[in-house]
Amino acid sequence: MTKLIQNFINGKVTASKSNISGDVFNPATGEKTAEIKFATAAEVDLAVKTAANAFPKWADTSPLRRARILFKFKELLDKHSTEIAKIITAEHGKVFEDARGELTRGIEVVEFACGIPHLLKGEFSENIGGGIDSYSIRQPLGVCAGISPFNFPAMVPMWMFPLAIACGNTFVLKPSEKDPSTSLRLAELLQDAGLPDGVFNIVNGDKVAVDALLNHPSISAISFVGSTPVAEYIYKTGTSKHKRVQSLGGAKNHCIVLPDVDLDQTAASLMGAAYGSAGERCMAISVAVVVGEQTADKLVQKLQDRIKKLKVAPGTEPGAEMGPLVTKQHLEKVVSYVDHGVKEGAKLVADGRGFKVKHHENGYFLGPCLFDHVQTKMRIYQEEIFGPVLCVVRVKDFDAAISLINQHRFGNGAAIFTNDGIAARYFASKIEAGMVGINVPIPVPMAFYSFGGWKDSIFGDYAIYGAEGVRFYTKLKTVTSRWPKEALKAEFMMPTMK
Ligand code: NAD
Repeated sequence: MTKLIQNFINGKVTASKSNISGDVFNPATGEKTAEIKFATAAEVDLAVKTAANAFPKWADTSPLRRARILFKFKELLDKHSTEIAKIITAEHGKVFEDARGELTRGIEVVEFACGIPHLLKGEFSENIGGGIDSYSIRQPLGVCAGISPFNFPAMVPMWMFPLAIACGNTFVLKPSEKDPSTSLRLAELLQDAGLPDGVFNIVNGDKVAVDALLNHPSISAISFVGSTPVAEYIYKTGTSKHKRVQSLGGAKNHCIVLPDVDLDQTAASLMGAAYGSAGERCMAISVAVVVGEQTADKLVQKLQDRIKKLKVAPGTEPGAEMGPLVTKQHLEKVVSYVDHGVKEGAKLVADGRGFKVKHHENGYFLGPCLFDHVQTKMRIYQEEIFGPVLCVVRVKDFDAAISLINQHRFGNGAAIFTNDGIAARYFASKIEAGMVGINVPIPVPMAFYSFGGWKDSIFGDYAIYGAEGVRFYTKLKTVTSRWPKEALKAEFMMPTMK
């Protein structure tokens, strides 16, 4: 019997009355593995009301008690990490160790959130004037919603809800409909950790569920991670309803390769950064900007040699380095970009189209693709492909490389490979991207920093998790307090320190 995926409301899986549903597939085999019920607006309303009812008591729970539940949650995540990683591989397709890696990065945010008693400490100034003290506190917002993409079914939801609930908010998550089972398992583990019913809820579905969250008067804040057109829509609609919104969008991450670099090491780094998780990472490198013709010739040759040896296989297979794409539709979309690149005149030096894995002929596999001599006017350069396709753009000097990156509409991450400290420092200062790597191809900030791009890779003023996350999920209150010993006179003038 096909597994049925439903909502999780008030501490339990809740049967949906929706007559709209979708299919979930195993990308390595192309087999349908589950049916997912898409929540109706009424079901979203129920989840939000449940979260709103749970809010006052949870907000009044001391931060230390909230942290203790998160400590327990972290223990359970460690204990069940193999099981969760298997769920991720079965629905997303990424290789098992990579799935474990994304879970670990999510757990790190839980570890950060366990420090919430410290993170919520405000400021205090004694005697700011005339026996008056002043202090600041940060209070939770209410019900927060999270809407997450398919490519990190554990990590991206965990960029959001651990910190939101640690801050005293309650939460409604709308995970990707393509790989929803991981979130449901996380919800069960939160309950096992002792989280009160209603503090964390899940509604499954598509635009209908998202719109119901965006328009719900009881939602105070929305965290979104996904593609740029949807991120912009979420930001515009959410803020027009006076909600706080952090909305992270798509990417086209460049790396500059300078001629002074060790090209073997650079090629090795680029392989993982471009083809890891089949390029379905918002921090994947999809453009290598190579300075000088000779450097480009050598690097492209080294990449071609490595591509021939890359092990593309189901994510469950030991030694697999790259799995399939997430869905048939996504595979077709990525292939159509490759077709387009050929038509546009870029030189396809590694062609992964038509790649088949024995006994997995219906899987959504695409071999690694490498384009050389890509021009900036081409669509394969301008648009996010989100697959295992690396574009090499050749430039004459370092300044041309920087200016090319700064002209791109996306600014999530950018990296440089060099041995020249002066060039690296200049790059870190002048490059227009939110996350910068120096000889580090995928510079995803740790949980105690914050994650966020620039330009069309983000809408809203807050990056996600870290200190920015605490600010996003709380509102600031400043208290000015006096306990007068003597009767006070009426004051009609603006109080000042004379
Ligand atoms: P997506 O934008 O299609 O979907 C993201 C979420 O929005 C899903 O939950 C989906 O159900 C919902 N959604 C989709 N269309 C919608 C619509 N029209 N109205 C309302 N909601 C809608 O993204 P995806 O394909 O799941 O994920 C891949 C994208 O996410 C890539 O563009 C990638 O760069 C981006 N991403 C960005 C980051 C980042 O940190 N900037 C991280 C991960 C992924």
